[in-house]
Amino acid sequence: MRLFKIRPFGPEWLFVVVLIVCLVPNLLLWHTEEIPFVYGAAGVLLPLGVYWLLMSISGHIGRSVLWMVIVMFLSAFEIVLLDLYGNSVIGVDMWLNVVTSNSNEIGELLGNLLPVIALVCLLYLPPISAGVFAVVRKWRLSDGFLRRNRLAGCAVGVCGALFMACGMVQGSYVSPRYYMFPVNALDNARQAVVRYVKTSRYADTSGDFSYGAVGTHEGGLKEIYLLVVGETSRASNWELFGYERPTNPSLRSHDGLVAFPRTMSESNTTHKSVPLLLSPLTASDFGDSIYHIKGIATAFKEAGFRTAFLSNQERNGSFIDYFGEEADYAVFIKERNDDRSLRDEALLDCLDEVLADGGDRLLVIMHTYGSHFNYRERYPREFARFLPDDATEARPDNRERLINAYDNSILYTSDLLARAMSRLEGDSIAAAMLYTSDHGEDIYDDRRGLFLHASPRPSARQLHVPYILWTSRRYADLYPHAVSAAEANAGKRVSSSESFFHTALDLAGIKCDAFDSLCSVANAAYREPERRYLNDHNRGVALEESGLKDPDFDYMDSKGL
Ligand SMILES: [Zn+2]
Repeated sequence: MRLFKIRPFGPEWLFVVVLIVCLVPNLLLWHTEEIPFVYGAAGVLLPLGVYWLLMSISGHIGRSVLWMVIVMFLSAFEIVLLDLYGNSVIGVDMWLNVVTSNSNEIGELLGNLLPVIALVCLLYLPPISAGVFAVVRKWRLSDGFLRRNRLAGCAVGVCGALFMACGMVQGSYVSPRYYMFPVNALDNARQAVVRYVKTSRYADTSGDFSYGAVGTHEGGLKEIYLLVVGETSRASNWELFGYERPTNPSLRSHDGLVAFPRTMSESNTTHKSVPLLLSPLTASDFGDSIYHIKGIATAFKEAGFRTAFLSNQERNGSFIDYFGEEADYAVFIKERNDDRSLRDEALLDCLDEVLADGGDRLLVIMHTYGSHFNYRERYPREFARFLPDDATEARPDNRERLINAYDNSILYTSDLLARAMSRLEGDSIAAAMLYTSDHGEDIYDDRRGLFLHASPRPSARQLHVPYILWTSRRYADLYPHAVSAAEANAGKRVSSSESFFHTALDLAGIKCDAFDSLCSVANAAYREPERRYLNDHNRGVALEESGLKDPDFDYMDSKGL
């Protein structure tokens, strides 16, 4: 057993430690991804064989360790994600989230991530430091040690390859791109770069796009359409959708409101869900089409509307920015005020400015910060109705406080919408407001202990979103068919991603080739959608293939989704 005869804290010891720590994510993923035995064994043995061979190429152990820093970095990132979401390899969206999340969002999450960050530091910093030490002290592995370990690495790698071959013979071929860490994580990083580059060329690829949209409503009356895109609001905490707490008192009393309780989003990620809402694309055709299309503001502009995009989120280089900037007036209020903690009600001041500027036909898109974690930062103290709401750390045993804070944020959003609607009411204005959220949220709701959103695998609560339509009295007088159609469709299943664009155009009487009356909840022709989910590789898949589990389908059954 000379192979394992190692001096404590010497070069051979470092060799073994690096092999072990690099293999931790593979072992964890085997468990969390529920990978069948042969693929799981291949997913551990093949990378181990390759690492083993790489480490035995040169006697300069320090240099070998420093080369392995790439694997150790990926491993650390993977372990942090597994701790946060409980499953899945680093996906394309996760790589993009690293680029598109702002420092505030990361900062607010940091407190929760500290224990696992400390753990990965403890796991990976000592071997990396020892590698640097080995370079400085010129540690060498003997030729005999290297020879024996090359053979051992080969043997382990061959075993891994045999397991993979067995898996391929036994069943359908499963590509290492999908189950073998770090091949899958690196391939997802490659796809993220491709997507990032394509997105940066958006101005060129969409330059010629036109909806050819025309307005059909008769002139002579002031028309205002307000589209509110919420953030991280889940339907199950809305009183309007059956929640037992009074989280929507200001909406409950409003006339002209129609709620659609059976609504799901086709994405759980902001940077994909919002563009789905603001364009005619769905999960099925999002893929490459997104690079060649423009947003809803362009359709309204072509139909003769003045358009405004008001956002309480920060720019993130995604299509949200691009679609927003298509509006005649686009403002990201956090930039204007240089205040990163600005609450959503600051958007109402902006709305007032836009309304005061006049114009007969107006589209306003408001992108709120809604109920994004950290929940208690999203509302002023006078909205702290559900107490205590002071959980500083997201842990399952803090759930009651987290839910209190979350409910307060819904209460605040509800009040914000009521205040926006009251600005649009008036005898001389035909106005309508459409509200939904980009996605929902998990807050330690079942034994899985899921938290947040944008997880690589969605959950039902991340996809069940509020969806409401409000029309002013004047609008209802002029277009009663739209109001009665919406009321008739209220009990039907809705995809927010599919219907938001078409419903907005329909309400405003805008026609174009992209418009589909079958997708508008304000149209008698409305038909229920086929449920789809836009997955990490930008493919629209059936919910059964999306990663939803039994508790999710149970939840969906209980809500009639
Ligand atoms: Zn979001």
